[in-house]
Amino acid sequence: MFFLQTAALSDSQANLPDLLITIGYVIGLYGLIMWAVLIIWVTRDIFSRTSSIFGRLFSLGLTIFFPFFSLPVYLVLRPNDTIQDRYERELGREAILAEMKTDISCVDCLRPIQENWLYCPHCAKELKKLCTSSDCKELLHFSWSVCPTCGVSAEIIS
Ligand SMILES: [Zn+2]
Ligand SMILES: [Zn+2]
Repeated sequence: MFFLQTAALSDSQANLPDLLITIGYVIGLYGLIMWAVLIIWVTRDIFSRTSSIFGRLFSLGLTIFFPFFSLPVYLVLRPNDTIQDRYERELGREAILAEMKTDISCVDCLRPIQENWLYCPHCAKELKKLCTSSDCKELLHFSWSVCPTCGVSAEIIS
């Protein structure tokens, strides 16, 4: 009976380090997988956010050598928006600028009008007049003295 107890005790004592080693392996393996996943994630993330070689190498180096400590640092230091975001924002801004350049406004009410309008649709201000030459119908500014297309004098028009 005594021998059995000692045997059982020594048996469980012998098993304890084995168990710890197994747990250690599992934790180690888990850490290794997390490390690999983190490197993959950071690689994809930083490539979508910057095209700078330095930024990419720095982020990857930080993740490879200080995997878990670097994550909060990386999240703070990484560019806020992706290259795609910046590209789309730039396109939007260019579109707005292009619109502003081509758009003119009514001299009276200052609301946007188009180059080929005879009257302001907002305030009914007469913006231009039609050339009186029957086969021309060019839109003429009031300041022009002749029609640029057919040469009819502005005196005849006005
Ligand atoms: Zn107007
Ligand atoms: Zn004309």
